[in-house]
Amino acid sequence: MTDALYMSDSYLKKWDAKVAGVKDGKYITLNQSAFYPKGGGQPCDEGYIIKNGQKFKVVYVGKFSGEISHEVEKLGLKEGDTVLCEIDWERRYTYMRYHTACHLVSNLLFRRANAKITGNQIELDKARMDFSMEDYSPEKLRTYIEESNEIIKQDLLITIETMSRAAVLKEPELARLAIGLPKNLQEFRIVKIGDIDKQVDGGTHVKSLKEIGEIEMTKTVNKGKNNRRLYFILK
Ligand SMILES: [Zn+2]
Repeated sequence: MTDALYMSDSYLKKWDAKVAGVKDGKYITLNQSAFYPKGGGQPCDEGYIIKNGQKFKVVYVGKFSGEISHEVEKLGLKEGDTVLCEIDWERRYTYMRYHTACHLVSNLLFRRANAKITGNQIELDKARMDFSMEDYSPEKLRTYIEESNEIIKQDLLITIETMSRAAVLKEPELARLAIGLPKNLQEFRIVKIGDIDKQVDGGTHVKSLKEIGEIEMTKTVNKGKNNRRLYFILK
């Protein structure tokens, strides 16, 4: 199984690895990888796998049967190769800022309006959040975004810890997603923002809130109480 380095260090940009397997010439597994596979509303990383100076562009990263698969643009990598890996940092860092911002906004939605997140999608130039909310108004959403920006100014730290399934089940607010916890896992990775937010999460995050910058809500959509939506950008 690939050691998923991004789980413990989201700032790792370059590392050495061994090619553990090659499928159809261009689907590569590595013994360890910091390439984030698409999931949880966060797009996959891109970057390069480099063998003796020859660059293989990584165009897609996905998780299949628990294994991280890297699709490269051309043939030539072989099992057992020693390689250098490098992620497209500008792209990844943008996703990290958006992902942490999503957690902060979902914290406010939950604390102020008991909203459950039903979906979210991060892009390079915006993020979308879907949620259920009884008592909805765009003006209220705007106040939650304003409050998020005030919290960013406190520059709280983001930390990662591990919790058992039993401990997570005692704190229902940890799994804020409406769909609940994955059934097959006994240990969960918890992403904390200072002391104000804890969530079960497999994504990559910034280290401190100030890295987010400023959140600006750009659009809201209302299709019924289980289907509210907001879009924001980071400045
Ligand atoms: Zn997340």
